[in-house]
Amino acid sequence: MGSVARALLVRSGGCPRAAGPRTSSGALRPPLPPLPCLFLVLLAAPGARAAGYETCPTVQPDMLNVHLVAHTHDDVGWLKTVDQYYYGTKENYQHAGVQYILDSVISALLADPSRRFIYVEIAFFSRWWHQQTNATQEIVRELVRQGRLEFANGGWVMNDEAATHYGAIVDQMTLGLRFLEDTFGNDGRPRVAWHIDPFGHSREQASLFSQMGFDGFFLGRIDYQDKLEREGTQEMEQLWQASASLRPPIADLFTGVLPNIYNPPNNLCWDVLCDDGPVVEDPQSPEYNAKDLVNYFLRLAVSQSQHYRTNHTVMTMGSDFQYENANMWFKNLDKLIRLVNAEQANGSRVNVLYSTPACYLWELNKANLTWSVKHDDFFPYADGPHMFWTGYFTSRPALKRYERLSYNFLQVCNQLEALAGPAANVGPYGSGNSAPLNEAMAVLQHHDAVSGTSRQHVADDYARQLAEGWGPCEVLLSNALAWLSGSKDVFTFCLNLNISICPLSQKAASFQVTVYNPLARKVDWMVRLPVTKGVFLVRDPNGRTVQSSVVVSPSTEQKDLSELLFSASVPALGFSVYSVDLLTSRDAQARTPKPRPKNSSSHILAIENEYIRATFSPKTGLLVEIENLEKNLVLPVQQAFFWYNASVGDRISSQASGAYIFRPSQQQPLPVRRWAQTQLVKTALVQEVHQNFSAWCSQVVRLYPGQRHLELEWTVGPIPVGDSWGKEVISRFDTSLETDGVFYTDSNGREILERRRDYRPTWNLNQTEPVAGNYYPVNTRIYITDGKVQLTVLTDRSQGGSSVRDGSLELMVHRRLVKDDRRGVGEPLLESGSGAWVRGRHLVLLDTVQTAAAGHRLLAEKEVLAPQVVLSQGGGAPYNLRAAPRKQFSGLRRELPPSVHLLTLARWGPGMLLLRLEHQFAVGEDSLRNLSSPVTLDLRDMFSAFTITSLQETTLAANQPWATASRLKWRPNTGPRPRSTPYLLDPAAVTLEPMEIRTFLASVQWNEND
Ligand SMILES: [Zn+2]
Repeated sequence: MGSVARALLVRSGGCPRAAGPRTSSGALRPPLPPLPCLFLVLLAAPGARAAGYETCPTVQPDMLNVHLVAHTHDDVGWLKTVDQYYYGTKENYQHAGVQYILDSVISALLADPSRRFIYVEIAFFSRWWHQQTNATQEIVRELVRQGRLEFANGGWVMNDEAATHYGAIVDQMTLGLRFLEDTFGNDGRPRVAWHIDPFGHSREQASLFSQMGFDGFFLGRIDYQDKLEREGTQEMEQLWQASASLRPPIADLFTGVLPNIYNPPNNLCWDVLCDDGPVVEDPQSPEYNAKDLVNYFLRLAVSQSQHYRTNHTVMTMGSDFQYENANMWFKNLDKLIRLVNAEQANGSRVNVLYSTPACYLWELNKANLTWSVKHDDFFPYADGPHMFWTGYFTSRPALKRYERLSYNFLQVCNQLEALAGPAANVGPYGSGNSAPLNEAMAVLQHHDAVSGTSRQHVADDYARQLAEGWGPCEVLLSNALAWLSGSKDVFTFCLNLNISICPLSQKAASFQVTVYNPLARKVDWMVRLPVTKGVFLVRDPNGRTVQSSVVVSPSTEQKDLSELLFSASVPALGFSVYSVDLLTSRDAQARTPKPRPKNSSSHILAIENEYIRATFSPKTGLLVEIENLEKNLVLPVQQAFFWYNASVGDRISSQASGAYIFRPSQQQPLPVRRWAQTQLVKTALVQEVHQNFSAWCSQVVRLYPGQRHLELEWTVGPIPVGDSWGKEVISRFDTSLETDGVFYTDSNGREILERRRDYRPTWNLNQTEPVAGNYYPVNTRIYITDGKVQLTVLTDRSQGGSSVRDGSLELMVHRRLVKDDRRGVGEPLLESGSGAWVRGRHLVLLDTVQTAAAGHRLLAEKEVLAPQVVLSQGGGAPYNLRAAPRKQFSGLRRELPPSVHLLTLARWGPGMLLLRLEHQFAVGEDSLRNLSSPVTLDLRDMFSAFTITSLQETTLAANQPWATASRLKWRPNTGPRPRSTPYLLDPAAVTLEPMEIRTFLASVQWNEND
């Protein structure tokens, strides 16, 4: 693209005046000069050189260099929806219009070649880009080539780090970075990650950024105590060693904490949204302030630089939705730079310049220092005493579940698009497309989306975007399943199975159930479908009868609900088709086991299978003991629901609990009820204890045959707030395990971090909130252990969790609040309607410490990528008359070993697929079964649906070939690091080390489907 731009430049000319260096006459010009003039402006620019650090501005090596970073922070939804922000509608909610920001910034950059600007959110930028003329696009390409417009981060959004799953983070970064790669080539590739607003930072995020090839990472929000400490010890900038498993420097990321979150210094905000006065340099004017401003700036720069180690410091000149009138900002910055640097003639040793995060980073790298290292994360985040941002770990649990479920569905959609090839996109059901759901999922990762910190109407709009993304994926699935099965059936997606509604299975006398398994290993899955009462015959793909049973729900709210259960066995990356026929409804009552009410029974209330027994107190109906029969482990575990009374502010602090912040008014939670009304269901295929705690809180504790975990399906809501008390509901497991203040949580669903109550690994914590200050994000799992026995709880969405007392473990499942917490959203978290009523699952594993990882790793994988159940009438016309329909299919020639997770299989372009393989065990995690050992795979004939004809390995976000990617090198103060080994890719022997993800772009040929 660069050559095209240059060709255009040569042809242009005839403009009366070229822009000299830094004029301040921009205000007199029209917003966008006529095109021929623009080309000359571009010609006059400093860098007809290569992109990257070569276009960085020159600095003064013997002075303090202040890097001014002109930027805007554009939330992809928060107080307004994505579209309301982009177009600038709904002025009454917030004054913000991203399209005007980009228009204005481009004009302002053209007005002066020394000006620089960074842009971050590709969800907005790509939309704006597609609305520009070819001429404007050429101009923007040239600005990017010259480093005057730089992209930082480059994800579709700036994702949240607490409530996001690593798979979805990788997907959203891939989407954004791909746009930049396709549009600007290497010139547009961001060198730095830029997470200036997320409310705390996960270690996994740093590891992922590192694997994506970023040279450095800048962040804004860290705990106020942590920041104070770092400023004093000059540890605002460090080397983050973000993985306990990956070989350094794979997950090493240089990380800098910005001085002022992401805002400009006080008194220096020159935006239409700010109140600070402009620079007035005319001494005759009564408004003259230049001298004072310059002196203020010099003092500020020197004082700020005390907290940093080099003779470079950075100032973020911009904030939320700023630069709508970019001239205001740039005109004042031009003056500031000129006036401050003029003081050098009077002996000042401060040099101020337009810069970018990448150019600042480049200077730090050139300083050639050794840097201290960090191994933990930046959770939880507090911006003051009693102000812990740990509520959003749970806020909007329904949206959090919808997001996680959509991740599951998107991967199924991606995989079937890859397995069926072009037949998935164009087929008998119309145009199938994974892109809308991919984009919607990327939007959901934004730090006000899945975090639950947007306004209600914006949360509704996020859900709308997901729902609209599902549609084209359903068409794609129908096309692909018809193609792969050879039968053009009418497929039905029962989206309300979580509340046991599916019209087809409830009405039809016979139907087919296609179960698709997105894992690289066979799964056995208990299918549960709402049906009318009766006796059913279920047959497997080979026509053999499989055991089934109909369970009648004992709960009063789902009276007359009958569910058909049968266990489906599904091959790796493939499907099995089961047929279901209603034999008779006459003797239904006789064959359907009746639930047995258990109110005051003297004999033991328990459910069990071959691996687990769960015992309940006959007096209270609560779970009191779990037994692992295989390992001969018995642990008293009492589980119940409690609620914290949300603070509305008190004498100690006015801080209230809100969408972001968790602050209980008392540290002791109150029980929802000390006992539960129970009913027992036992059939050959399931054993359940139904517990009813109150009108708004119930639970089913469940065991299926062959299952090594106990399933707790809870239903909570709508939480009553008629008493004006906000309530934060937890499920708590109390055991006798001696845990010594320690518990463990996952980081974005991948590596595990140790947590210690009232403790931070890098500073002496002054704990102000004994509960909220010990809450951590739980993406997929939390566990406690006494060194021998481990109790693990897996979640089906992100939640907040903790171990507030030894032997105890709790997860916050829902919260409903009456006050706003004054962090900007301006609404109490008071969901009504469908968001108020939440159902979810906790999967509980009791195991020895040695074998626990094998259990929770494989179970978490199965939970995140659960099988997709698709119904159809059956009897569809054959797709291809030559081939007989097939009722079973696997996209793999052989299963992958248990330590390997197929993270991504997706269409990349015509005849091109994106493939990611991941080692899902950490070093030393599974010593007994060797699941932590490196694994070597042969990719050449791994897939049955297509043949890989060529293979290229890339960095994690697939925007750079691995062979040519290089990152800046940083020296830790802990000594020299191992040398990297030369790169060689042998598709016949691809080795995965523990926790390693390898990303490939594969050219493929789909095999004939017969
Ligand atoms: Zn933000």
